[in-house]
Amino acid sequence: MVSPVEHARLSPSASSRWLTCTPSVVFSAPYEKERKDTTFTAEGTAAHALAELKLQFDNGKITKRKFSAQLKKFKRENEYYSVSFEEYVDDYVGFVNETIASYEQPEVELEQRVNLSDWVEGCYGTSDVVIMTDSILHIIDLKYGKGVPVSAVENPQLMLYALGAYHEFNLAYDFEKVRMTIYQPRLYDTSTYELSIKELLDWGVNFVKPRAQLALAGEGEFAPSEKACRFCPARAVCKARAEKNLEVAIKYDFADANALEGDQISEILNQSKEIKKWLDEVEEWALIQARDKGQHFEGWKLVEGRSTRKITNAEVAAGILTEAGYSDIFKPQELKTLTQLEKLVGKKKFGELLNDLIVKPEGKPTLVVETDKRPEISSLGQAIKDFE
Ligand code: SF4
Repeated sequence: MVSPVEHARLSPSASSRWLTCTPSVVFSAPYEKERKDTTFTAEGTAAHALAELKLQFDNGKITKRKFSAQLKKFKRENEYYSVSFEEYVDDYVGFVNETIASYEQPEVELEQRVNLSDWVEGCYGTSDVVIMTDSILHIIDLKYGKGVPVSAVENPQLMLYALGAYHEFNLAYDFEKVRMTIYQPRLYDTSTYELSIKELLDWGVNFVKPRAQLALAGEGEFAPSEKACRFCPARAVCKARAEKNLEVAIKYDFADANALEGDQISEILNQSKEIKKWLDEVEEWALIQARDKGQHFEGWKLVEGRSTRKITNAEVAAGILTEAGYSDIFKPQELKTLTQLEKLVGKKKFGELLNDLIVKPEGKPTLVVETDKRPEISSLGQAIKDFE
């Protein structure tokens, strides 16, 4: 028998895509199989597994004996385990335990399977932590990545988990509001968002349900955006995305003046990150098609890339050179990188041992969007303005 998960085409984790760009699910389905599990997702899965094990023990769901045996096995067998990996997981586990302790007589469910079929046909998900009290339903989600901070505010994935948890437990509780938290230990970032149950249910019925129906039918308008297209399997071949990225260039082709104005540069800057990413993705996709499927692109050909010579057996080569009378043939011993050492020693111990020897040089001035959390540094222009 095929499980409902295998039928589900709309998942909570991809909801920021299909809720905004509804035709994307059907349109991108043929490209889905070309996607591979990345190291990042595998590392995230490992972090979730270790966190679940620790939380199960801390919350009396498994015996000490079982916990110790499984922890030992995890440390021995999991390729992502390191002292600093465990420290990050412990940081998250500590946060979850503190949150649980802040409620009076809460019930806790870990890795809770939630059913969203009332709103999205055949859709299921798994919520990392569900805390329930008489009036509050609290969802906590671990994001182990360290790429970008993910906000919990109006985050559809979390709101879907909350809907599913509400569906699962509302008969036994009198929830009035739902709290949703994203915890990112590697970015030291926490984000929480709160809604009344009424607002959540309205969102489910009036926004999610109709958009899910459109998405499953492959209908609606294509809506390219950085968020929606980021993990879309069709992102390299999608015309709507290409048109959006070329929009800026086409627009200035017909502009009157020869030089761009400041606000036009701002508009290009707004789009530049997404355009660079899109160009890289189109290049990568074309390479895969040419290399693995023999597809030909007019004016392009597949060649062997540049490579550098290398010694096949360093030990034998060193022996030959020494015998020939050369002594200065080895590199001086080199310390591993700061990140590698921190991974080896663990963040806390590393800090204790080497804090006095670590400096953080001033970073090169970088232009970023105004919403970036870093404080603005003063430029020459600003200094002149201040002086005036
Ligand atoms: S690439 Fe973007 S616009 Fe195109 S289908 Fe995917 S999400 Fe929609």
